[in-house]
Amino acid sequence: MHELTLLYGVVQKVEQVVKENDLDHVDAIVIEVGEATSVIPEFLQDGYEVISDDYDFLRGSELIIEKITAIGRCRSCGTEFPVVVNKGLCPECGSFDKDIIEGTDFFIREVRILEN
Ligand SMILES: [Zn+2]
Repeated sequence: MHELTLLYGVVQKVEQVVKENDLDHVDAIVIEVGEATSVIPEFLQDGYEVISDDYDFLRGSELIIEKITAIGRCRSCGTEFPVVVNKGLCPECGSFDKDIIEGTDFFIREVRILEN
């Protein structure tokens, strides 16, 4: 599953942060998932439940997923619009021809550590 591969990538990066900062545990990982990625947040969440149990520094931590709205720019008239609610069509001229300018990313935004 695509989401698991991504999750292992996240875990590796967080593990690096943990080592570099001499930590033993994190409390939450905040990731941003663009609407225009093929990532399914529910799969990420489910996968995390399983994976986080295998790593001491993640046990009991939380995965927080923030969704980023996909924004397209119409190639015909230049209008920028949220893609999903408009079903991919430019609300100004009805064109389907667009560039996705936001919401194509998947990245770690924050690793949260609560004070003891
Ligand atoms: Zn347009």
